[in-house]
Amino acid sequence: MGFFTDTSVCIGCKACEVACKEWNDVPDVIGELTGESYDNTSSLGANTWRHVAFIEQRTPAGVPDADGDVRWLMSSDVCKHCTEAPCLDVCPTGALFRTEFGTVVVQEDVCNGCGYCIPACPFGVLDRREDDGRAWKCTLCYDRLKGGMEPACAQACPTDSIQFGPLDELREKANGRLEMLHEAGVEEARLYGANEEEYGMGAFFLLLDEPEVYGLPPDPEVVTRKLGSLWGAAALAAGALAAGVVAAFVGGGR
Ligand code: SF4
Ligand code: SF4
Ligand code: SF4
Repeated sequence: MGFFTDTSVCIGCKACEVACKEWNDVPDVIGELTGESYDNTSSLGANTWRHVAFIEQRTPAGVPDADGDVRWLMSSDVCKHCTEAPCLDVCPTGALFRTEFGTVVVQEDVCNGCGYCIPACPFGVLDRREDDGRAWKCTLCYDRLKGGMEPACAQACPTDSIQFGPLDELREKANGRLEMLHEAGVEEARLYGANEEEYGMGAFFLLLDEPEVYGLPPDPEVVTRKLGSLWGAAALAAGALAAGVVAAFVGGGR
């Protein structure tokens, strides 16, 4: 299960951000306006599990029906619930786990605040709360899913920009929507994270510009993919070191 966020119909109302805070009892820390846009939460963080980005930009050449030279791009970002999640791989306490819905959740009572997961996430999703030091992020409303409900953010979105459901169905919908936009002449529309072979995401997006414009990495990497061989190399090195120590000890005893 996961999300398809179609940014082409987002109106920037922030109902998703508010619904997430209300349902999950996330502290309502409201920041300052950035000065660059009407955004007062700036990024995903320990107290912002959904973040609606507002990007003011000059209309790229070729966009049909552009009535001015400035446009707004709006996009509701969230944890990607990666199908190969590096945050989960590096957590030493098992606080991060994969649920029966295929999503990735942090157990607040198991997290010890070591912070290893934070640099492992290629999207800057995980963050420690200043007051308790533990890592927090979107749970994909695990409690609601267990109760047969849809996530609070998807339910609150008035334009269906956030759609929740089985990933295969969502990918089909997303491809249909992309085709429709291309036929309508919106050539810059593209899917981000929908191709499992590139980087599997349980939350993928339809964007109207390059991922970097929305603050998303163009080519995210599973930094832990080589962990098995790294651990193997570390074990070999440790073995060689131990053998050296034994040899020195035996040699010194003669
Ligand atoms: S987006 Fe980051 S926090 Fe979310 S599952 Fe992937 S690696 Fe973990
Ligand atoms: S799925 Fe739930 S926890 Fe995640 S952003 Fe939406 S409302 Fe918040
Ligand atoms: S609720 Fe829907 S339309 Fe409103 S900001 Fe969030 S994604 Fe956009």
